[in-house]
Amino acid sequence: MTIASRAQPGVVRRYLYGTWRYWREMRRTQWLSADEFHARQLAQLRWLLRDAAENVPYYRSLFQTLGATPDDFHDLSDLARLPVLEKQQLREHPEQFFHRYSDRDHLIEDHTSGSTGEPLRFFLTVEQKACEMAHSIRFWRWAGYRTGARIVAFRHYIPKRPTDPLWHLDRRTRTLFFSVYDMKPANLRAYVERFNQYQPGFVRGYPSSIYIFAHFAASEGLRVHTPQAVLCSSETLSPEMRSVIERVLQCPVYDWWGSNERVVTACQCERRGLFHVNGESGILELVPLPNATGDAGQRMIGTGLINHAMPLIRYDLGDLALPAKEPCGCGRGLPCIDRVLGRVNDTIITGEQKYIPSVRFYTLFETYDKVRQFQVVQTEPNTVVVRIVPARAFNGAETDELRGKLERFLGAAVKIDFELVEHIQPEPSGKIRNVVSLVKP
Ligand SMILES: [Zn+2]
Repeated sequence: MTIASRAQPGVVRRYLYGTWRYWREMRRTQWLSADEFHARQLAQLRWLLRDAAENVPYYRSLFQTLGATPDDFHDLSDLARLPVLEKQQLREHPEQFFHRYSDRDHLIEDHTSGSTGEPLRFFLTVEQKACEMAHSIRFWRWAGYRTGARIVAFRHYIPKRPTDPLWHLDRRTRTLFFSVYDMKPANLRAYVERFNQYQPGFVRGYPSSIYIFAHFAASEGLRVHTPQAVLCSSETLSPEMRSVIERVLQCPVYDWWGSNERVVTACQCERRGLFHVNGESGILELVPLPNATGDAGQRMIGTGLINHAMPLIRYDLGDLALPAKEPCGCGRGLPCIDRVLGRVNDTIITGEQKYIPSVRFYTLFETYDKVRQFQVVQTEPNTVVVRIVPARAFNGAETDELRGKLERFLGAAVKIDFELVEHIQPEPSGKIRNVVSLVKP
């Protein structure tokens, strides 16, 4: 739900003022030293814990059970004394997470798409939304965006009828939205022509959609207008996608990671290496998976610092990430991670209990130029369906070759079924999930 659709008087004004206030503060706090930033987060955390322990039923009983008080927390690492909060707990007992003084009429209801399970409802304050927007503005400005630049967005627009146009221009934000549900080869030439005609300064959206667009233009030898930067979000951006988009659009790609529940976000600065955690609004912990090797990544556990109306503390974000080995060279004191590997649900766990993170598939297909797009779906503990959009003729020999490569890390016990398709169908949200496990671990 958007802020503009809320009818309460004053909400839009509070949102705009809040965004401006957070943005002004973030311009300064990004340059705090790592120690100063740590101290700032600790003060925010202690305030959150005191408020939650007193006013939120779940945390009140949790602290009683633990025999602890918020005053026992002297460092961010003390957070590990609290248990990880699973989605299921929030889904089953949402009332337990409401602050007793929160005014529901002034909260903004949102929900996860439910692509990996039942939808999950949660509630945000206007301050939370304003802080998120300020983080987005900072990210965009790191990429060079200034107010008024033309934007092409590969997301958010769904044609209602088959005869509706494939794009929609929002004059207020100077954004041309392309439908990501209609990116078939028959339509893509028109996308390229409209893109070139509009001459955007910035491109944003799902990396899979921008990749399909760039790959099509390159394979058809079409000239494409060069924007200033591409800003990706909401899906895993593989190194292959990044390199194709950068080569075809001839501009840098910046990546943003966020959680559906808006607990914490991270994004790349102008160096485009590590991801800075937007630590003014959340704390991110990385917790190793049991019995997994280093390249499988670590669980991302988030604590939101702004949304006191429905606080989520040590919430399992469902994604895996690699920790940063050293700070970012830009000099900002914001915490860093190396990169996000993808959803835990995108990790395939075979019947022999082998963990195969989605990054293994990305790595394989990056070096295999006979495939334009792929999707791996684990349907049974020992069965995967591999959907292929071939880059060129794909026959029995190619299938056998690919089967051999996949068997090397899936193991011979896993049955592999191939399906050749014209395009990979996006989720209802518009995202494409390249690796999906339908098997509960
Ligand atoms: Zn940096």
